Amino acid sequence: MKLLNELTIKEARELLDKGEITSRKLTEACLDQIKSLDGALHAFIEVFENDALEAADKSDIRRAEGNTLGKLDGIPLAIKDNMLLQGKPCSAGSKILRGYVAAYDSTAVRKLIEAGAVILGRTNMDEFAMGSSTEHSAYGPTKHPRDIERVPGGSSGGSAVAVAANMCLGALGSDTGGSIRQPASLCGVVGLKPTYGRVSRYGLMAMASSLDQIGPFAKSSEDAAMILETIQGQDPSDQTTSDAEAFKPAWDSLKGKKIGLPKQAWKAGGIEERVSEKTEEALAKLKAAGAELVEIDLPYADEALAVYYILMPCEVSANLSRFDGMRYGLRKIGLPLFDTYAQSRAEGFGDEVMRRILLGTFALSSGYIDAYYVRAKKVQTLIRQAYEKAFKEVDLIATPTTPTTAFKLGEKLNDPVAMYLEDVFTVSINVAGVPAVSMPCEDDGGMPVGLQLIGQWFKEDELLGAAKLLES
Ligand code: GLN
Repeated sequence: MKLLNELTIKEARELLDKGEITSRKLTEACLDQIKSLDGALHAFIEVFENDALEAADKSDIRRAEGNTLGKLDGIPLAIKDNMLLQGKPCSAGSKILRGYVAAYDSTAVRKLIEAGAVILGRTNMDEFAMGSSTEHSAYGPTKHPRDIERVPGGSSGGSAVAVAANMCLGALGSDTGGSIRQPASLCGVVGLKPTYGRVSRYGLMAMASSLDQIGPFAKSSEDAAMILETIQGQDPSDQTTSDAEAFKPAWDSLKGKKIGLPKQAWKAGGIEERVSEKTEEALAKLKAAGAELVEIDLPYADEALAVYYILMPCEVSANLSRFDGMRYGLRKIGLPLFDTYAQSRAEGFGDEVMRRILLGTFALSSGYIDAYYVRAKKVQTLIRQAYEKAFKEVDLIATPTTPTTAFKLGEKLNDPVAMYLEDVFTVSINVAGVPAVSMPCEDDGGMPVGLQLIGQWFKEDELLGAAKLLES
């Protein structure tokens, strides 16, 4: 028998609807799990205990009166600390936002609340979502639930651990170059980055606005689908959201579907043996479920990482210029005024954030912008076209999510290039704007491995359909 906090959203919902459990009990079970484990794991920056219990009670009353809101009514979820929830602090894992309290709700979180979800707290993350290990958080690292000497991945490491360690039933993360999929892979949970434009970015602290996307962490593909259904949709407050047809889950068979295996990924060097073994096992399952696996050519795999590490810092340097000690959080007064900006930023930002601001400012500066930013934008078009071409031949694409399993804390911290290489298989998806999900491979109790399935623009239904077959 599963404990309440171990249930999937779907299971919990069925029991709630039958009146066999209450949201209060479910929420208490999650809060107890947080109390017993979070001292060691540090998945949360803040737990909203009282608000969560109050929301749970309200949900129970609604259900008793037959006024249940959305599919997530009464379900305890966690949110990454870079999406605003009105009246609550929001820090993006940074010291520079210490003391900042959100003045309004992010659209994605508001939609969760309108659907009746219980928000348990805000989860730890690499500062401003920059990193692959959660070690760049100003509030200390999050630890891997299976081995606290290891990292959970990042930047949404807190959300991944909260789900993997059954501290909540699902969570939101953000993904600019892999920050949902990579920690999902390392922690053995489902992590979905929707198509760019599927989910509103309003109220999400911008890292690289043209690449950022909010998405779910969950224990199953069906749970991920339920969260996506709730948070998706066009938003007048985010002009990059799309009017594409709404996502509806469709659990079609894989029979006759073609899955492309890019030789650039599968034959790349540096893939850990355990990752190759486990992902190949997963491919065999897809084949047994009726999919046709074909090797494909997906050029610009290496260039994608370079393009990402130009475009992203350029946008970071512009987006983070608003943190100047004047409008938000930390202020270090200096004279003349310029020194207030300089000192607040020097004191408030961590090394990795500073590195990216410097790189981006350099790549955008007069004399270099054509060689770096403009050129990277052109290669972005080529990458997008490579995906368009591939999707003329195949329905889905599969790669390992990451080249390695969870690494040791500190192992890559002082080697930015090694840390950036964690993202080789995830960044091109953001550069192209397509959706992708990391699915846990068969669990043998060792370090988890994820298989990344990549779908066509706005075809999350096919993507999650394939994901579900892999699970069964
Ligand atoms: N690990 C990548 C980076 O450091 C991705 C970050 C993200 O998706 N937010 O930039």
